[in-house]
Amino acid sequence: MVRAYVALGANLGDAAVALRQAVQAIGQLPLTEVRQFSSLYKTAPLNTDAGNESPAPGNDYLNAVAEVETSLTAPDLLSHLQQIEQGAGRERSYRNAPRTLDLDLLLYGSARMESEHLTLPHPRMMQRAFVLVPLAEIAPGLVSRQQLESVATQRIERVGKQADRCN
Ligand code: ADP
Ligand code: MG
Repeated sequence: MVRAYVALGANLGDAAVALRQAVQAIGQLPLTEVRQFSSLYKTAPLNTDAGNESPAPGNDYLNAVAEVETSLTAPDLLSHLQQIEQGAGRERSYRNAPRTLDLDLLLYGSARMESEHLTLPHPRMMQRAFVLVPLAEIAPGLVSRQQLESVATQRIERVGKQADRCN
């Protein structure tokens, strides 16, 4: 089993429902168990492609991070995550477009790889408060104080402990 971290985000429709259903779907993947799920966080939409965060169109997002243990390979896990996205009705209209559900594979054990479809660790995770803050909540050893400080200008607000909602 490998410990992996998945970032969840949504900003269309009922985003809280989308995230809850997504984490349930992840827990039902073959050879995969969800170990932890962060609180939900409300965040401003950002375009972080170029490394300089600029506003992106759309409503606020809800974001969270899940820790999973899996015996799937990293590419297989990503393709399952993409199937869950598709099932949530995601349309890839344009980059940074509003989406019903975005699932990114942040970390897969200590794997480092760069292929056409999968880069690990996720190449933009360190620029994103909406990734680092929920990741630090469930895996404090993986995020340094300096990394959190470097994204401190990005608006993010904790809106609820997910465990209160799904149990
Ligand atoms: P973003 O999440 O950056 O807004 P998308 O979700 O549209 O963008 O993903 C774009 C592409 O990124 C996908 O086609 C996927 O193959 C690729 N990709 C590369 N590495 C990863 C990763 N670690 N997690 C998720 N997608 C990845
Ligand atoms: Mg994505």
